[in-house]
Amino acid sequence: MTTARLDEPAWRLRDRVARGECSAVEIAREALQRIEARDPDLGAFLWMDAEGALASAAQVDRARASGQPLGPLAGVPVAIKDNLCVRGTPTTCASKILEGWVAPYDAHVVERLRAAGAVIVGKTNLDEFAMGSSTERSAFRVTRHPLDRERSPGGSSGGSAVAVAAGMVPLALGSDTGGSVRQPAAFTGIVAIKPTYGRVSRYGLVAFASSLDQVGPMASDVRGAALGLDVIAGHDGRDATCSDRPVPEHMAAADQPARGLRVGVCRDGLEGCEPGVVRALELATQALRDAGVSTHDVALPHARLGVSVYYLIATAEASSNLARFDGVRYGLRIERGDALETTAATRATGFGPEVRRRIVLGTFVLSAGYYDAYYLKAARVRTLIIRDYEAVFARCDALLGPTSPTAAFRLGERLEDPLSMYLADVFTLPPSLAGLPAMHVPFGRDERGLPVGVQLVGRPFEEPTLVRLASALESRAPR
Ligand code: GLN
Repeated sequence: MTTARLDEPAWRLRDRVARGECSAVEIAREALQRIEARDPDLGAFLWMDAEGALASAAQVDRARASGQPLGPLAGVPVAIKDNLCVRGTPTTCASKILEGWVAPYDAHVVERLRAAGAVIVGKTNLDEFAMGSSTERSAFRVTRHPLDRERSPGGSSGGSAVAVAAGMVPLALGSDTGGSVRQPAAFTGIVAIKPTYGRVSRYGLVAFASSLDQVGPMASDVRGAALGLDVIAGHDGRDATCSDRPVPEHMAAADQPARGLRVGVCRDGLEGCEPGVVRALELATQALRDAGVSTHDVALPHARLGVSVYYLIATAEASSNLARFDGVRYGLRIERGDALETTAATRATGFGPEVRRRIVLGTFVLSAGYYDAYYLKAARVRTLIIRDYEAVFARCDALLGPTSPTAAFRLGERLEDPLSMYLADVFTLPPSLAGLPAMHVPFGRDERGLPVGVQLVGRPFEEPTLVRLASALESRAPR
């Protein structure tokens, strides 16, 4: 029997299928076996769809046998974060309030994956409604770091990160509102792209903070992530904020040299970072110089306000978005005397503590008398952050900085201290507030052997520039 080589990146696996070196069914079986063997211990998946996976793989093999053209992800096993609708499968957002709810339709990104020949194997764990940075806030299970079971894989897309990092699938989708694909990618040593706001349709992504949410690919290498973006990016009329700009070729950009690009290096906030993270940034800066990139020190004076601004805007939007979970339309229903009491009982039982905290905070900042003092002020500071980036991008093609101030922290370490959890996203929140594309690129390990890396941030819709730089870094990363 030939081995399906599941450890290979998505693009190479697809090429093998296209050349007939291994069948899509063979690969799907290997992925399912690996999940069965590794996941009881790691907890990356909430739901599996073995039957569906084997059926779509068989369809790819039939298409190949009859000489039909194959899609760019033909036969590639993909895992989907459980806040994205996959028709006919449970979609719970890792919340008790949606337990038992089965999505009646596919998210736009899932339609795109299917059309590209991808084989969807299951739904991955997350912090409830994507609110968190450790995947410990799931109502169903904790996800563990593949290199150290006592550590967190980050979050909220921790399940997708572990599915990729532990070699169960080469590609997964996550969602990123303030860092949720980048920070878990940093913790687990994989690549993730948070696209420009509007690059990817949010149709079928359960809304958290609608002015920030984007779906992003998480993959074992730069090309794999870029290929994922090639497949999911582009216009969709069902999301009014989705751009109709033409989609450039992201994977092809990995072959373009980075030479001649100008990169701003932002060292703000480095004093709060672990030494391993600082070292990765210095080494990555040098690696870009070696690749012919010019580097320039830059500052983003308002970025340090990102955490405060984000926790006002994101909670305000969340309090409004989560009002739809009322015990009538979806999932859980705790029957009480009248409609109001039923809704109150359902929400009090169905939402976990972090989600309740955010709803309360968001409702407060939007209430009469506080709206101007908190929400409106946050919206104004958000504009100042956007202007900081505009000033830098007038001189630089991209920005380089840390993704996370620390490598993977221990499970439980931050659970009782929300502020320390929120600070895990200090570097990923500002690009989200500005709607900019941002990417995590692994760059070696720290002294404990935990993955570290860097974040690249680009001008709106200039993901290909990030991919060029990421590819230069990937080929020079310490082994
Ligand atoms: N960790 C941040 C939060 O808790 C960001 C989460 C996300 O990007 N979904 O809100």
